[in-house]
Amino acid sequence: MGTPRETPQAQAEAVVDRLEAEYPESTISLRYSNRLELLIAVILSAQCTDERVNKETKHLFETYDGAEDYANAAQDELAEDLNSITYYNSKAEYIRDSCATILEEHDGEVPDTMDELTELSGVGRKTANVVLQHGHDIVEGIVVDTHVQRLSRRLGLTEEKYPERIEQDLIEIVPEADWQQFTHLCIDHGRATCTAQNPDCHDCVLADICPSEKGDSEIDLASGDPW
Ligand code: SF4
Repeated sequence: MGTPRETPQAQAEAVVDRLEAEYPESTISLRYSNRLELLIAVILSAQCTDERVNKETKHLFETYDGAEDYANAAQDELAEDLNSITYYNSKAEYIRDSCATILEEHDGEVPDTMDELTELSGVGRKTANVVLQHGHDIVEGIVVDTHVQRLSRRLGLTEEKYPERIEQDLIEIVPEADWQQFTHLCIDHGRATCTAQNPDCHDCVLADICPSEKGDSEIDLASGDPW
């Protein structure tokens, strides 16, 4: 079991510093070439791997060109074009509805405010934060996905369970300049080392400051269950 830094702020800063040294190239792994493609890729990535989304969007983005194409697509055709993605029927509907709203209310442009984005079909705060950060260079929150959720709890940065509450805790302690990068660092570390089922604590750069470290910690703080 590692010993966390004295304050949550110091713990968050130490986590960022060490993970930045470990993953200097950390960034978003979804592929896109404009804001609409980004929005669509993020909608598709809910409960699906970025790798699978990238594979599917490769042909999707060649077939459909702009909000009008998606809004006018037949539901079953668009769904069929997405059929390797989890919940492809619902996601096809979200994309068609979102693109219709973008055409009708935003002159065909992906909006740049949290309120307008979260009014789009299938777009919650997490998706909106990603689109704001990577599509509009606006960082007004921290994207909390499953990796951020798990690592933040394991590292003692939050005791909250739900993403929006976790985000509020993180906003208080992660330096604002690192809000965007914090997510990518957690994702990289969550994939490489601090995996959900079998984290490799022996080979972890955070082991000495992690209260969940498996050496002699009995509890996985992410779940609250014994290791
Ligand atoms: S791999 Fe182990 S030591 Fe590292 S952050 Fe995850 S639980 Fe903590």
